[in-house]
Amino acid sequence: MKRSRSRELRRIRKRLLERRAAILDVNRAARKEFNSLSTQDRGPEYEENAQVALADYTLYKLLDTQMQELKMIDAAQTQIEEGTFGRCIECDREISIERLRALPYALLCQEDARRRESEQLASGASLPSL
Ligand SMILES: [Zn+2]
Repeated sequence: MKRSRSRELRRIRKRLLERRAAILDVNRAARKEFNSLSTQDRGPEYEENAQVALADYTLYKLLDTQMQELKMIDAAQTQIEEGTFGRCIECDREISIERLRALPYALLCQEDARRRESEQLASGASLPSL
């Protein structure tokens, strides 16, 4: 049982690293495009409205989503280095493999994630909890 968990964790860690590399690749390309879009022959009045331009916005959202995911992967990386990967940062219990498979960078066990989520809902925050 123990042994299969650590094998699963290794597999999940590998997926995290692959996912990270993939994001960085796409991110680099998207960022390049974003930069060229934002610097192309645009007057100051356009720059002011850049946020509402749909193409920019879509790209910006994409970069933003990727950065969020990257941050979560990095947090998981830190956990891996500290040897706490796969454990809930709140209660220190093991996070189920099923949960880690679905969400490799989960920092919280199901229970704590659910609890935080309802707390955040109550406080009006919109960030999903991992
Ligand atoms: Zn927990």
